[in-house]
Amino acid sequence: MAARGIACVVAVLALLPPLARAETNGELLDRLVRAYPDALSGHDDKSITWRDGTVMPVDDGVSDKPFDQLLRNASILDQMRQPYPSGPSVPPAVNVDPGRFRNEAFFKKMYGDCNTGEVKRNLVTISWLPKSWGKPVQVTRVNGIAERLKQVSAEIEALDPALRAAAFPIAGVLSCRAVADTGRMSMHGYAAAIDLNLKVSDYWLWAGKGEGKGKTIPYRNRMPQQIVDIFERHGFIWGGKWYHYDTMHFEYRPELLEK
Ligand SMILES: [Zn+2]
Repeated sequence: MAARGIACVVAVLALLPPLARAETNGELLDRLVRAYPDALSGHDDKSITWRDGTVMPVDDGVSDKPFDQLLRNASILDQMRQPYPSGPSVPPAVNVDPGRFRNEAFFKKMYGDCNTGEVKRNLVTISWLPKSWGKPVQVTRVNGIAERLKQVSAEIEALDPALRAAAFPIAGVLSCRAVADTGRMSMHGYAAAIDLNLKVSDYWLWAGKGEGKGKTIPYRNRMPQQIVDIFERHGFIWGGKWYHYDTMHFEYRPELLEK
């Protein structure tokens, strides 16, 4: 009987799709270089090379960092460790925050430092949802983000009005500030993130109020999947796929979407 039981288990396992294999460091770095062709020229095992010749280490030699250390001190490899699930997704498991680990040196090099006026030099003005809202918004032109947001805007305009309403008025793009719980510069500091309509948004810190420490954060979301799909097609990840969710937030992170 036991042998037959084992045979059954083996037969069932054989029918299941293989588990996704974790990518090697080399594969992660290939993906990073492919995602930012204007900025990066290549990599080896230890570093990435920028088109201006700058070499940056991909690892800081610290292994098994706890979650809060990954939020505060992510290496370039750390920032790609958690795979981002594109398309429809279930509420994220505890501390699954794909995209919230960011290496600050990497993004400052890419977009500049908003405290010294470097980000400002690359700002351009676009009209967000010109048919439905049409207010001027300043975004970075680095990595073609301004052009990409124009395409996102045009695709959102084509949605049903009830869905489109979640995308305006926007809550903001450029904001030179740190993320509340990490102390690290937000992607808004680089003008590479956009917050949509505050009225239909949910944020983990609002939900967490009144919850005892150690309790699971209850997930909430009212952002239409159609809007998420449009942003993802253009290289933007969505804050609704984080355990520490921020459902109005989209940021340009093509390295997490690039297949
Ligand atoms: Zn945001």
